[in-house]
Amino acid sequence: MSDAKKYVDVKITNEKLEALKREQNAAVGMARYGRYKAWLHYANLNSWQNQKWHLAYVNYAGESWHCTCGLVVARGTVAEVGGLQALELDAAHRARGHRNLPDFGELVVAFVYDYKWIEDIGFYYYDAFCQVCGDYVLERSGREADMFADIHNISCGVAVRA
Ligand SMILES: [Zn+2]
Ligand SMILES: [Zn+2]
Repeated sequence: MSDAKKYVDVKITNEKLEALKREQNAAVGMARYGRYKAWLHYANLNSWQNQKWHLAYVNYAGESWHCTCGLVVARGTVAEVGGLQALELDAAHRARGHRNLPDFGELVVAFVYDYKWIEDIGFYYYDAFCQVCGDYVLERSGREADMFADIHNISCGVAVRA
């Protein structure tokens, strides 16, 4: 069932963010608020991509979910990754074919699916899992989560690259 995966280009450049900020500053009244919301949407997306966080971040016209890496998951798609009920996974997490973040390069099977900012200690904790073997780590430092993903993308990712 290797149907062709669809991608959309969701890469946010600094130029785009700066242009949106300029539009916001130039707008007045409620238009300014609208521009602010537009900027915030892309600024958040950009920051999540840099955190290497995969997430079904937007429901496009109720038809499909778009992952932060650009993978498009049509609504009602049969989950390719089952089980893992202990984890809070979204439709994108259960679909194969994600691209590495933040460079949108190789296909990955292990990645960060959630993270927490711990205000008290000023630290980010990451949750990551592997779509192939079902292994996962919770509340790890970015370095540890990266290491987990790297190991699984090498050992478990072989099949998807073949
Ligand atoms: Zn993704
Ligand atoms: Zn694995």
